[in-house]
Amino acid sequence: MTQKYVYFFGNGQAEGRAEMKNLLGGKGANLAEMTSIGLPVPPGFTITTEVCTEFYKNNQTYPESLTSAVAENLKMVEALMDRRFGDPRNPLLVSVRSGARASMPGMMDTILNLGLNDTTVQGIIAQSGDERFAFDAYRRFVQMYSDVVMGMEKDILEHLLEQKKEQRGVHLDTDLTAADWKELVGSFKLKIKEELGKDFPEDPHEQLWGAIGAVFGSWMNQRAITYRKLNNIPADWGTAVNVQSMVFGNMGDDCATGVAFTRDPSTGENYFFGEFLVNAQGEDVVAGIRTPQPINRVKDKDGKLPSMEEVLPECYRQLVDIRGILEKHYKDMQDIEFTIEKGKLFMLQTRNGKRTAPAAIKIAVDMEKEGLIDEKEAVLRVQPSQLDQLLHPSLDPAAEKQVIAKGLPASPGAVSGQVVFSADEAEAEAKLGKKVILVRIETSPEDIHGMHASQGILTARGGMTSHAAVVARGMGKCCVAGCGDIKVSYAGESFVARNGVVVKKGDTITLDGSCGEVMLGAVPTVAPVLTGDFAQLMSWVDTYRKLKVRANADTPHDSRVARQFGAEGIGLCRTEHMFFEAERISAVREMILSEELEGREKALAKILPMQKGDFIGIFREMKGLPVTIRLLDPPLHEFLPQEEKDLEELSKTMKVPVGTLKHKVESLHEFNPMLGHRGCRLGITYPEIYDMQVRAIMEAACELVKNEGFSIVPEIMIPLIATARELQVLKQNAVAICNEVIARYDVRLEYLIGTMIELPRAALTADEIAVEAEFFSFGTNDLTQTTFGLSRDDAGKFLPFYVDNGILAEDPFVSLDQNGVGQLVKMAAERGRATRRDIKLGICGEHGGDPSSVIFCHKIGLDYVSCSPFRVPIARLAAAHAALS
Ligand code: PEP
Ligand code: MG
Repeated sequence: MTQKYVYFFGNGQAEGRAEMKNLLGGKGANLAEMTSIGLPVPPGFTITTEVCTEFYKNNQTYPESLTSAVAENLKMVEALMDRRFGDPRNPLLVSVRSGARASMPGMMDTILNLGLNDTTVQGIIAQSGDERFAFDAYRRFVQMYSDVVMGMEKDILEHLLEQKKEQRGVHLDTDLTAADWKELVGSFKLKIKEELGKDFPEDPHEQLWGAIGAVFGSWMNQRAITYRKLNNIPADWGTAVNVQSMVFGNMGDDCATGVAFTRDPSTGENYFFGEFLVNAQGEDVVAGIRTPQPINRVKDKDGKLPSMEEVLPECYRQLVDIRGILEKHYKDMQDIEFTIEKGKLFMLQTRNGKRTAPAAIKIAVDMEKEGLIDEKEAVLRVQPSQLDQLLHPSLDPAAEKQVIAKGLPASPGAVSGQVVFSADEAEAEAKLGKKVILVRIETSPEDIHGMHASQGILTARGGMTSHAAVVARGMGKCCVAGCGDIKVSYAGESFVARNGVVVKKGDTITLDGSCGEVMLGAVPTVAPVLTGDFAQLMSWVDTYRKLKVRANADTPHDSRVARQFGAEGIGLCRTEHMFFEAERISAVREMILSEELEGREKALAKILPMQKGDFIGIFREMKGLPVTIRLLDPPLHEFLPQEEKDLEELSKTMKVPVGTLKHKVESLHEFNPMLGHRGCRLGITYPEIYDMQVRAIMEAACELVKNEGFSIVPEIMIPLIATARELQVLKQNAVAICNEVIARYDVRLEYLIGTMIELPRAALTADEIAVEAEFFSFGTNDLTQTTFGLSRDDAGKFLPFYVDNGILAEDPFVSLDQNGVGQLVKMAAERGRATRRDIKLGICGEHGGDPSSVIFCHKIGLDYVSCSPFRVPIARLAAAHAALS
């Protein structure tokens, strides 16, 4: 049997189904599905993604049977439409669109009105009775086709159009007549011949194959490649091509075209949200050239533009019914495109709508309440990485702000940054570590890299479904779109607000994507409140996940934040962070500078009460939840200044000769401090440091137990262990101090002594180490560094290049290298458990907050992950996803 390359849909019957996205692309699969459930879809066919893959595999040639399959399907469309492709009297026109497995908005090219030429245009005049419409459609086709298929510079024909308007003394396209359009078609074609040295194809079949080739070709264009890279879409998925009979939204005032979401994609509110344009074709709504009208008045109560409900009430009612059918069928919020031709409604697309994080949560929780989905499905509907958006600040309501303009609240969040006017500039400035806001008249897919590099996006033109709005929401970036209050001058690198304020490149502004305000300067922000639907979802998350989630926190304040985010303990308290506070650092330096044990002990005695105070604060905040405290880890030189002038200052405050200080700094110098005198190696050589820290931890715990009836099991963690013997020595010392403190306070207190697994040798000998260790915490930052032989501090110079060029799929410091470092973790966990069955296993490297790493930790059976407080909800959700899928 020959392989099936083309799938038909039309008149209530379809060969494809919604589940066939991999083969038919999202658009093709859903056109088939909508057709089967009886929605009005213009007939057409889908050429599969396999053809695209084979096209690239076989040197850009098509499979043999494709030509005849396309011809057969075209015949079926002709039969249903009762029109013929290329027929001078009654021609069929088609659209040709791309459609990959994952939606890639605006990334690939679309051609409308295909099949028009000098003879078929007469047939369109006969069909429509409207010469102006027919020639307008024709010139649009010539413009699109010459750009997308033939590679003609868009602006050249656009310029001819502008000239024509000038010559006729009009401003709007709509003021041009049939004769004008007809003339323009002629001059367009001449210009194309002049520029490209070839004729515009007249043969509709040649046009069709040209368009199919262009769609497949667009899979490898730069914007598609960039989009795939940003969204982790593999290149070998390929795109499908959808060929569909045209319906026209621009045949008069009983025609329209629009896009809608079955619920609000910004907030998730359950009302029908959309925009449309009367007498417009296809991309006019998304292109942002005309300001679209709302489909109803639910939100836009006193807007000036008439709604679809008002001007096309019949079609609106039908669309509302379809909204209900689609939500019941797909059980998810849909993003739809429709066209109305002479009062008749057609559906051109449906897909699961992209949404902001707040919307994702609200929709999931609402749909569970409405009985459309269950709790588990609701949990799976929200992507862990999306939560990041929610956990970010919004504008401080008490802050003063100078609002200079207002646009559409296209994508929520509040951000400040320096204004730039081009995507390249945005990228360049962001690389220098600047926070920038990209300001454009409107954005196009060419701007995607700049949008990615920016904090937020501000556009002067375009609606809620404009390119800027859709892409920003997908990226979780703050965006204010369609801000007609500003006039942007690219040449002048500035914009003027309506009130006359001029904002130049480099000036700082603030955007509030939740209300559309643009403010001068940087307005302070506040942390998010996580109640309501968020709390509901997270309660489901907590019922389904198995993995516990702790936080990395070093202060009572961070501990409180962590608990508010749902942390079930502290997985890593880095004690060295406490050493840097103003009054402590001098005692720490005094300790480092002391050549004799006595001097060091004197200095340590000053630090002990402060550390104890910190631990009391943290234990109190954590209310009996487990707290893992790590003993001193970094090399000592980190606590001394390195610059000459800072050393001089220190010499004055410490009353130590500057020469002594310099000598000490020199003596502490190491070529590879990360592999040097740090971690447990400090504890071995200066036992008094760890002794002091253990005493501070135990005294803090004993005091709370004795005086306040707390129940605490402190977990004392020793970093950078390479051999079991190191741990044995250090544990012996620690146990002696613990027992001494417990006896002194005369309380009952259990405690655990464990280690970090941060070195390959520790992982390899985990069975020996577990003889001493009561818990392992995988320090995957160092373990990645030491397994890859990749310096954490220097990798920034070349790692991005590795990732950009596909040498590494991801930065291994961000997402755990599961095949390498992950295997060490897995093996050490197994070996640890083989020695000590109930050993507690967790991870506290940055990977503890990375969703795919969390899922890996679940799979290999760790007990918990620990991450920064703001990532705790992300880790909880990822853990639930791991348990449910
Ligand atoms: C680690 O190495 O993964 C770790 C958590 O420790 P630090 O980042 O402090 O070296
Ligand atoms: Mg470490």
